[in-house]
Amino acid sequence: MVVVLAGGVGAARFLRGLTAVVAPEDITVIVNVGDDLELHGLRICPDLDSITYWLAGLVHPEQQWGRADERFTVRDELIRLGHEPWFTLGDRDLALHVHRTALLREGMALSAVTADVTRRHGLTLRLLPVTDDRLETRIHTVDGRDLHFQQWWVGERAVPDVARVEYRGAQAARAAPGVVEAIVDADVVIVAPSNPVVSVAPITAVPAVAAALASTAARVVGVSPIVGGRVVRGMAHRLLPAVGADVDATGVAAWYGARSSGGLLDAWIVDSVDAGALPDVRALGMTASATDTLMDDPDIAAALARTVLGLGHAWPQDDRPGGPA
Ligand code: GDP
Ligand code: CA
Repeated sequence: MVVVLAGGVGAARFLRGLTAVVAPEDITVIVNVGDDLELHGLRICPDLDSITYWLAGLVHPEQQWGRADERFTVRDELIRLGHEPWFTLGDRDLALHVHRTALLREGMALSAVTADVTRRHGLTLRLLPVTDDRLETRIHTVDGRDLHFQQWWVGERAVPDVARVEYRGAQAARAAPGVVEAIVDADVVIVAPSNPVVSVAPITAVPAVAAALASTAARVVGVSPIVGGRVVRGMAHRLLPAVGADVDATGVAAWYGARSSGGLLDAWIVDSVDAGALPDVRALGMTASATDTLMDDPDIAAALARTVLGLGHAWPQDDRPGGPA
């Protein structure tokens, strides 16, 4: 079983490659819910939905999130009714939020709703929200405000400087059913090239997940979301400095830390343009390798997935935690 820790679009682009080289039935994706929000009474789960739309072939190709062939009748009517259109909600996308919210209101857990949604989209891999409890990423700005992540990112375009990031609810959150078992029983755990601060960290902030990641016999292999010192897309460059990390491939590896010294990673994959960083990454106490990671075409994503799996399985038996002494 291959386990992937995932945010939204960066993870989805990687999963498109992984599903080409591993049977989807053998993949469990543990997904961030810190970005989730409630709007017009509806529960919206951007990262779960980005992955679902990508893998079901429904994603908007240029935008890379939301639905292709979308229309905005409901949004336009909401504006007419006096609502502020700060968060994009297309009609097709809204239907999923209505469906999900209805099932949640009937008392279904988010993990069960997600299983229903993925099945209805014809997906055979397992998508698991990291928790069924509320976990919300909050951005505390330098100007003293406490904003939901989406208010800061979508509402204010990531302009306000960030003083601190909080994973509200994480300490008390229980892992969703299947999450801990998947990590403990995994052959390899992959940290997708997702935003470290607002996609991966909210997952590892759940105590049961952190404990499973620390104890699993599987190797934990990450892919850098930073290429040549730049984010490929998104706002990680606005957040990494706020948590004390350098905005480059080594900086992210150092922030995650080596599992041998209490961190997350056994191995780190950087882009070919960052091959010069390999000695610094190895000095952190992890295996390191460089390859093409810009997944603009599915073949590159598949080749990257093969490299990740290769590193994940190249574990000297005797070095396994709990393996022969
Ligand atoms: P979000 O939740 O939709 O923002 O998506 P993620 O957290 O999964 O991914 C955002 C991160 O993915 C950003 O830091 C991007 O730089 C990174 N990313 C996106 N596409 C690629 C890619 O093709 N290659 C690499 N290496 N990183 C990528
Ligand atoms: Ca996200």
